[in-house]
This record gives sequence, C-alpha cells and structure tokens, in this order.
Amino acid sequence: MAFSNITGQKQIKLRLAAEAQRRGSGAYMLSGPVGMGKRLIAEEFAKALMCSDAGADGACGVCTNCKYFDNFTTPDVTRVYEPSETKMIKVDFIKDNVVAESYLKPQFARTKTFIIDFDYLGVESQNALLKSLEEPKKDVVFILTSSNTDAVLDTVMSRVTEIKLDPYSEEELEQIVRANCPDLEDSKIKSAVYNSGRIPGKAISLAMEDSGVSLRHEINSIMIAMPESSYIDVLEDYLEVLNGFKDDAKIIASSILLFLDDAGRLINYPECRKINNEQDREAIENFVLTNKHITTLKLGRCTEAVNTFLRALEVNSNFDSTASAMLLRIHEELKK
Ligand SMILES: [Zn+2]
Repeated sequence: MAFSNITGQKQIKLRLAAEAQRRGSGAYMLSGPVGMGKRLIAEEFAKALMCSDAGADGACGVCTNCKYFDNFTTPDVTRVYEPSETKMIKVDFIKDNVVAESYLKPQFARTKTFIIDFDYLGVESQNALLKSLEEPKKDVVFILTSSNTDAVLDTVMSRVTEIKLDPYSEEELEQIVRANCPDLEDSKIKSAVYNSGRIPGKAISLAMEDSGVSLRHEINSIMIAMPESSYIDVLEDYLEVLNGFKDDAKIIASSILLFLDDAGRLINYPECRKINNEQDREAIENFVLTNKHITTLKLGRCTEAVNTFLRALEVNSNFDSTASAMLLRIHEELKK
C-alpha cells in the first residue's frame, strides 16, 4: 500500500511523501473530525518513513522495512492508540513507551516513528511529552492525530506542525464507500454519502447499515428472544421489524439462515472457531445453552420455513402474510 491507495487528501499525501524522502525529524499533528481517515494517513506516513526506498508515492511496499512494517514487527514504530482497559492512556505508559523510547536509536530504519492518538491523552500525558516534542532527536518523527485540537494543550500545538485534513469531494466519498461495500446499489451509496456530513467513516457506517448489518443484528435479537416470546410478540413486534426492511426480503431471509446455521454449529460443536455472527457470538451461545429443547431437527424445520418465505415472495405473495407465516412456524419450533 502506498499513498495512492488512499482516496483524496492529494496535497497532504504529496507533502508527507516529500517529508518522508527528506528524512528529517519533526512532530506533526494530523487533525480533523472522527472518521476522516487520520489514522490511515498516519500509518502510511509512518510506513514511508520506515521504507528504505520511499518515493513520491510514499513507501515502496517491497523492501524489508516495508515488510516489517506490514507485519507489525518493526521496533522502530510505536503506536499509541485507544487503551483496552482504561478510558485514557496512563501517563506512565507514555513515559515508558514514548519518552524513554524516543532517546533510543532506530534499529532497522533510519527513522524512529511514534504514532499517537491524542484523543486518548489527558493533560498529564500531554505534558509528559512536551520536551520530546520540542526537541525531537534527529532521527525521530512524531505523528500525532486529534479529532479535537481544543483538547490539546497550546504548548503542544505550538511545538507541532498541524496538518488539517481536507474535505473530501462527493466523488471521493462515493469511491471510498464503494470500496468498502462493493455490492451496494448506487442509489444507496449516494444516500450514504449525502447523509455523511462529508465524513468518510460516517458514510461507510451508513452504507454498511444499509447493507444489512443492523438488520442482521435485529434479526439475531428476535431469534434469541423467540423461545420466550408470545404470539402477540411475533405478530405485532417482530412482524413490524421485518416490515421495516421489506425491500430487503432476501437480506431478512439470509440473516435468519445465518443465525440458524450458527445455532446449529454451536449445538454440534460448542467450541467451533468461527460462526457467521461473531459479533453476537456470546448471545447465540447463551441461546443454545439455555434452550436445550432446540435440536438441529427443529432448526432444520425453521430453515424450511425461511425457504418457503423466499419462494412465496418470488411469486409476489403479500409480504405481511408470508412473513407472518414464516415467523409463526419458527416460533412454533423454537418456543419453550
Ligand atoms: Zn519500502
């Protein structure tokens, strides 16, 4: 991957590629709202700094240093991203992993690079970095990112070169969304872009929702609740949810089938490594454990109900009646 693989931000990419070729030291602050692609650019810039043959498009992608970078095995790049257990990064972590580390020589590359997401740095941690930022050693580059520079100390801002990300054009946004959701229709891509406030991350998540990710999650919740549900729940609440997605009947069907497949796998192989709905795995495991009456035979009959639903819609049957027939059959099989 090189800079040309990142859509948009042409001027910034040219500038950073030139900086990487110059191999100077310094501290940069990439700023812009959440979802603008700051991290993507920061990573690509770091890779260009590592590369032994960086050109006008950044990293070459084939040298040993590029390989180390891609495999996260270079000791010359330190990433400080969101912490896993605390809300903010602890100041001691910054002292040990950034400040102390920045006095050491790079091992493989000519530059030692630190990528630091300032959204997770409180005042104390920022203060701990001041001296390092003021006089970076000649082979050290700091790439900082922030989605809110108002929360960054003035003393930090005065020590860094701020690079504000440029707005993306509509075309660029469409290209970004298409790359992430290749099967989505053009009209849905356009509407995701239109509602995104020109933020690519937001456009992608809207497009993904449109691709059925949120529908899948809703379907999973319905299926999980099915054993304890009443006819009224099924015919009123669940039917209403399905009705809301009636234009995506195939996604409704495939979502239910994926759930049934997952439940079947977990009944037969509780330790199986991967299921379709990894994001809801715990809930589906719990569903299988607490509903011992549900057998693979019952799941198979639910699958038949879904296939009947699909066949009925192909001949243009009424959505309401076919969907309710399917839900009732599934309920009959799964209820306690
Ligand atoms: Zn390279």
